[in-house]
Amino acid sequence: MAEGLKWLQCPVCKDSFNWKVPADALKDVKRYPVAVVIKHKDHYLVCYLDSHQQLADTEVAAALIEAEEQ
Ligand SMILES: [Zn+2]
Repeated sequence: MAEGLKWLQCPVCKDSFNWKVPADALKDVKRYPVAVVIKHKDHYLVCYLDSHQQLADTEVAAALIEAEEQ
């Protein structure tokens, strides 16, 4: 497996796929776990990585909407 690639079985559609850890973005992370949002087909997964870039947890988000604080 190439470096930085993680294998995941999607909890929504049960497909297996590889995704690339956003190593550049993780460089600036000060606190762990860090949430990484992955778009898979028409749904979203939230993966939590610990400081060793190991998968700590996975959550399912049926949709992702960005909101701004007012
Ligand atoms: Zn999926």
